[in-house]
Amino acid sequence: MAPPIVQTSLFAKESHQELVDALSNEFGHNVYSRGQNPTVEALERKIALLERGESCKCLSSGMAAVAAALFGTLKQGDHVLFVNHIYGPTLGLARRLRRYGISFDVVLDPEAEKIRAQLKPNTRLIYFESPGTMLFRTVSITEIVEIARAHGALTMIDNTWATPLFQKPLLLGVDLVIHSVTKYMAGHSDVVAGAIVGKRELVRTLFYDAYLLLGGALGPMDAWLAHRGLRTLPTRMLQHQVDGLAVARYLADHPRVRRVFHPALDSTSQELLGSELLGTSGLFSFELATESYSRLCAFLNSLKLFKLGVSWGGVESLAIAPFRGDNAKGLAAQNMPTGLVRLSVGLEGSQLLIDDLGRALEVST
Ligand code: PLP
Repeated sequence: MAPPIVQTSLFAKESHQELVDALSNEFGHNVYSRGQNPTVEALERKIALLERGESCKCLSSGMAAVAAALFGTLKQGDHVLFVNHIYGPTLGLARRLRRYGISFDVVLDPEAEKIRAQLKPNTRLIYFESPGTMLFRTVSITEIVEIARAHGALTMIDNTWATPLFQKPLLLGVDLVIHSVTKYMAGHSDVVAGAIVGKRELVRTLFYDAYLLLGGALGPMDAWLAHRGLRTLPTRMLQHQVDGLAVARYLADHPRVRRVFHPALDSTSQELLGSELLGTSGLFSFELATESYSRLCAFLNSLKLFKLGVSWGGVESLAIAPFRGDNAKGLAAQNMPTGLVRLSVGLEGSQLLIDDLGRALEVST
C-alpha cells in the first residue's frame, strides 16, 4: 500500500550500453537520485494527477521549485511581471536575478488594466499568486492567462494556498504550477519540499536546464513523508476550510478587530469563489484595532494554542505578524497595516481556537 523508500543515490546497470542509454534520457530513467528516484516519482505522479498536469518534478523546497522555474525559463534581457502579493523570498530571488540582466516589476493591484500597463516588449513571464501572500486577494486566472497569451508570455502560479483540490490552474490555461509541498500538501510540519507541474515538454526543459544543474532534488525519505501526507489532503482541507471560516467570521465580528482578509469574506474575491477557486484553506489574516507594537506583542504572546512561527498548512495552528516595530514604512508600501496578524488555522477544533483568540484579544487592547 505504501511506496517503498528507495534510499539510494544511484542505480547500477547491467552493461555499459544500458548505462549509456539511460544517461542519454535521464528524464525518463533512474540513473542518479539528483535526477529521478522511484519514491520521488510516486509523489510526482500523484501531484501531476491532482493538478491535471502531464508531468511533475518534486524538489527539496518550494523555493527550489521557484528557483528552477525562473532559472529554467528566463534569459538575459527578459522581464518578469509579478502580479499580486508574492512570497517575499520569491521577490528576493528576482532581485538577485537582476545581476544577470533579468528585470522585473510588481503589480500589487491585480486589475487587468494595471497588469497590461506594466507589460514590456520583453516581458517573458507573468508570475502570480492567487490568493496572494499575507492579504489573500484573489486574481482572475483566466484573465491573466488571456493577457499573457496575447503578449506571448508564459504564466506561472504559486498554487500553495489553495492546493490542487481547491484550484486547478493548468485547466484554466496556466503554463506552470509551483507548490511549496511543505505546507498543506505534506500537511504535518515535518518535511520541506516543493513541486513544479505542467506540460511534459516544459517540465522536461526545466529538468535539463535547471533541475539537474541547480541540484535541488527531493530526498526519498522526504518524498515518502509528503506522499503519506497527501493521503489525507481532502479530509484535512475540508476541515481547514470549515474551521478557518468559523475563526475568520468570529474575528470579523469582534470589536477589537478592524478587518479580516479572507477570500470568502472579501466581496471582490467572491465572484471567483465557485468558478476558479473551489474552496478556501485555513490561512488568512486580520488587522488588530491598534497601531501599537507593544499591544501587538501582548496579543501574540498571550496565545496558547496558536504557536508563533513561520510556515503554515500543518495540523497545528500558527500565528505570525509582519510588524517588527521599525518597519511600518515598508509595510505601508505593500498596503499592509501594522496590526496585521496571519493565522494558519489547524485541526485543533474551531471553538478551542476561538476561545484562545478571545482571551488574547482581551489582554491586548
Ligand atoms: N510559496 C509560498 C506562498 C510560501 O508561503 C512559501 C513558504 O512559506 C514558499 C512558496 C516557499 O516554500 P518552502 O518554504 O517550501 O521553500
